[in-house]
Amino acid sequence: MPYRAWFQCISGCDEKYELNEVVYQCKKCGDLLEVRHDIDRLRRHSSDHWKKLFDERYRRTRWPYGSSVWGKKEFVCPSVANENVVSLYEGGSNLFWAERLGKELGLEDLWIKQCGNAHTGSFKDLGMTVLVSMVKQMIAEGKKIPAVACASTGDTSAALSAYCAAAGIPAIVFLPKNKVSNAQLIQPIANGALTLSIDTDFDGCMKLVREVCTKNNIYLANSMNSLRIEGQKTASIEMVQQFDWEVPDVVIVPGGNLGNTAALGKGFLMMKDVGMIDKLPRIVCAQAAKANPLYLSYLGGFKEFKPVKAQKTLANAIQIGDPVSYKKAINVLKVFNGIVEQATEDELANASAQADKTGLFSCPHTGVALAVLIKLLKRKEILSHEKVVVISTAHGLKFTEFKINYHENRLEEVTPRFANLPVEVPPQYEVVRSAIFKKFEQTL
Ligand SMILES: *Cc1c(COP(=O)(O)O)cnc(C)c1O
Ligand SMILES: [Zn+2]
Repeated sequence: MPYRAWFQCISGCDEKYELNEVVYQCKKCGDLLEVRHDIDRLRRHSSDHWKKLFDERYRRTRWPYGSSVWGKKEFVCPSVANENVVSLYEGGSNLFWAERLGKELGLEDLWIKQCGNAHTGSFKDLGMTVLVSMVKQMIAEGKKIPAVACASTGDTSAALSAYCAAAGIPAIVFLPKNKVSNAQLIQPIANGALTLSIDTDFDGCMKLVREVCTKNNIYLANSMNSLRIEGQKTASIEMVQQFDWEVPDVVIVPGGNLGNTAALGKGFLMMKDVGMIDKLPRIVCAQAAKANPLYLSYLGGFKEFKPVKAQKTLANAIQIGDPVSYKKAINVLKVFNGIVEQATEDELANASAQADKTGLFSCPHTGVALAVLIKLLKRKEILSHEKVVVISTAHGLKFTEFKINYHENRLEEVTPRFANLPVEVPPQYEVVRSAIFKKFEQTL
């Protein structure tokens, strides 16, 4: 009997669809769908079987299992044929032991999961490989899909463009004009996607892309498409695997559209359902104070959720006021004894720079998560002996403007406490030497 997974409505109305059907929402009640797996079938193997299998495949060469997403294929998307998998070797990202940063912050056991060390420089690759593989499979089955499209704050568009380019599938990306970094903008351009720069914000792009997709048979790649969540959830499986199947105490993740928060929870719950772990971590969702609808809802005990108008923030990938996956995220946070906290521009920029000074190279979103960690430590909501994992969502090299402007003190609402400016010197030994001595008086 094969492993099976299907789409199911999250509202409990029992609607189910096949994974190769073009459907993003429940046709009966309009709510979000999620991918459900035949857990009984998976449980026919022992938890040790799965751990051993995943360990054997991890970062090896046998196609497509060396990818840490497809190395967990039975848990992710079993119905895609291996020849239709579009993989650029996802996951297997460094779990960085942030020893120095942890010490500075008063934490014994701090780890940064470098999900941004990926083909397109963000964790979005984890989900996009699953979605584009399913598109390739549907095309192979004879379905008419002329193109795949997404709205993006910069990283989803980069991932979609790269995976579609690798598979030879046309991609269309909807980007809010002047609201993504140069690196993020050049990625879909370089990969040959139709890149639409639209004079609106992410939420505006999202409305447009939904209309364009529904009316024109174009496949929608945003995270309301829950295939992506299945790939993203492997981040939690992978981090536990990297700890030799031990579960950390706390996981902190920056949240915008909130798909990743939902995905992290889903990964842990699935491992628990299959019997691979017996405890769950606390999950913390970190939002930018300029785009904080989940934080506001949390303050009210999640009794209601109201979209906000997102303000401009340095953490542009989470500048989202009307997140698609808020219900899924709230469900997860309730189960995981969750916390939502926010970070100001000053807090996120300084946290990011402080981390960089200990060897990291953090994107602003990782800065949001680190700033929230600092706050929760001060409030003793996270304790110094706890094992904490911060999810780093993108590579810092995508955000060099942010970093240069920080060190040159040109960011609004930010007072740089860790600025380190280049010292300009003429090509003369004495001047160079005195510049060095000025900096290292104590140690030289
Ligand atoms: C997409 C993204 C996020 C937010 O993830 P959501 O699933 O939208 O909450 C955070 N950081 C970076 C760098 C991203 O690209
Ligand atoms: Zn429904």
